[in-house]
Amino acid sequence: MVCVPKPSAVSSASCPPTAATPPESTDPQTVLRRVFGYDAFRGPQEAIVRHVMGGGSGLVLMPTGGGKSLCYQVPALCRPGLAVVVSPLIALMDDQVEALLQLGVRAAALHSGLASGPAAALWRQLNSGELDLLYVSPERLLAGDLLERLAERPLALFAIDEAHCVSQWGHDFRPEYIQLGALAERFPQVPRLALTATADPRTRAEIVKRLALENGQVFLASFDRPNIRYLLRPKEQPSAQLLQFLGEHRGMAGIVYARSRSRVDRLAAELKGAGYDAVAYHAGLATEIRSAALQRFRTGSAVVVVATIAFGMGIDKPDVRFVAHVDLPKSLEAYYQETGRAGRDGLPAVAWMVHGPGDVPQLRRFIDDSSASEEHKRIEHGKLEALIGFSEAAGCRRQVLLRHFGEELAEPCGNCDGCLEPRPLVQVSVAAQKAISAVYRTGQRFGAAHVVDVLLGGSTEKIRQLGHDQLSVHGIGRELDRGQWRSLIRQLTGLGYLQPAADGRGGLCFGSDLLVKPLLRGETNLELPLPPPQKERRRSGSPAQTTTATTALGGSRVDDALVEALKAWRREQARQQGVPPYVVFHDRTLIELAARQPGDLNALAQVSGIGSAKLERYGEAVLAVIVTAAAAGGADSRPGLTP
Ligand code: ADP
Ligand code: ZN
Repeated sequence: MVCVPKPSAVSSASCPPTAATPPESTDPQTVLRRVFGYDAFRGPQEAIVRHVMGGGSGLVLMPTGGGKSLCYQVPALCRPGLAVVVSPLIALMDDQVEALLQLGVRAAALHSGLASGPAAALWRQLNSGELDLLYVSPERLLAGDLLERLAERPLALFAIDEAHCVSQWGHDFRPEYIQLGALAERFPQVPRLALTATADPRTRAEIVKRLALENGQVFLASFDRPNIRYLLRPKEQPSAQLLQFLGEHRGMAGIVYARSRSRVDRLAAELKGAGYDAVAYHAGLATEIRSAALQRFRTGSAVVVVATIAFGMGIDKPDVRFVAHVDLPKSLEAYYQETGRAGRDGLPAVAWMVHGPGDVPQLRRFIDDSSASEEHKRIEHGKLEALIGFSEAAGCRRQVLLRHFGEELAEPCGNCDGCLEPRPLVQVSVAAQKAISAVYRTGQRFGAAHVVDVLLGGSTEKIRQLGHDQLSVHGIGRELDRGQWRSLIRQLTGLGYLQPAADGRGGLCFGSDLLVKPLLRGETNLELPLPPPQKERRRSGSPAQTTTATTALGGSRVDDALVEALKAWRREQARQQGVPPYVVFHDRTLIELAARQPGDLNALAQVSGIGSAKLERYGEAVLAVIVTAAAAGGADSRPGLTP
């Protein structure tokens, strides 16, 4: 076991520094390399670590897979005292603790699922200062006398993971989180770091307020997930389309999201019939069945979970290679969060979705029929519109997605269907003038549905009552069908020609004069993609080829047989220890091993993800796998070993 000495008297007593761990290991950079096996901090990690090291508090907004954990784990090891990590889910805590133990870090989790034996051991460790990180659920932290006990010992920091759980706006609201605000008063000297992958400004403001982080710093990382390829397809025969998509991803782990429980059950059965290792997951299944499904997904390598949105939080499996949506999610935020479960390890992953106008009325109804307040319903409708806008957008999906979160991506990404398979553009300048005129003539207060009725020359009761059949714009738009007009109006809204009326009642009014005036004067040449006419919708072209994980790592050639041999070895290790394989080594590490083929322990220590504990524990075994695989496959391609 490798010890990570900390500048506290207690820890060094039970864990004396060895020759391999000089005292300067309280330096973050050194800890990053020695414990975690990484060469450099990523994005804002370093600034965050330095801020916390200096005693500062704050809020970290980073996308899934961005590397939030290191932001508190490194300071936890560098600052004196115990670091307390509040986390809402037992499975997640246990995973993190397991991974830390593998790194030689003294960590433990305290939650209601803990058996009495391990619990007693934990208290002993806690009392004798033998722990560096304590993961604890919020209710457990606040129950009994734990806070008093903590107050008696030096504390390195508090980390509050999944901090959006404190927000009533979010979908993961947990009442216990509200009480975490009290930590500020109770432990004014201890840095508090809240972390979340939710970027929504409203949620952000609520976290800062409720956790009393007003004097802290906010660290906002880019929410781009460049390794995720966004592929959207018109929905025709969703299950056949899904099967075709899965066929391109055999042998990989993924999640398929569907809206209803019955659809989940049906699809899971279909996939099983087609030979996939598929499991269903939704809130209607018994707890044991659900946790068995989760367990299978975590430990298996090619399991496909078919799920409702009940499957989500706490999935931190790093090697999910695809997330497929056969139904439209309810908002762009939800889409981002659900697709964000793919590719946490940074390797190529795909977010695939079939969508069609048929999804929309049902989603609208869900919102209208809910018991939420009118204000909340309007917000939900707005969020849904943003998602539809994204699904219909011309050009780069990623630009639209990031713009929604307030980020501008200067160039098209080159890794989405909009970039890879550009749709043909249609000259829509005149149609756009007509749409804008219709908005104007009807008084800039009606929503798209009525405006389209007028354009198409409809004779609805509303039109007759308001006399809109007498307007010059009535019936001037018969060259496009309803779906095309709706799409055009959404795109015009997305581009700023139109905007939702300020009263928030769903009406449309003019957007920026700078755009509208030149358009009406005929000075703008507007080309946009439109959906094909309703009667002609047919199958779209074949999907873009997706890169496999192994070819995309820095372009170096990778010996696939060696990756497989390493995976087999890892599987066996994981089985013996009863942990998920990625806790032993991430795919990324195995791929790098296969690419570099290190010949000795020194070379092995340079590989990303191999810190001193893993080097000591697995080093020889890994070298043996490499040597054996090379002998089996011919040693000519081994750069790191003399024959
Ligand atoms: P998050 O909690 O933000 O979703 P994690 O903390 O689980 O993300 O990190 C995602 C992955 O990135 C993990 O596999 C982690 O080990 C890896 N990682 C984080 N920081 C670094 C870094 N500086 N260098 C290399 N890998 C990193
Ligand atoms: Zn793109």
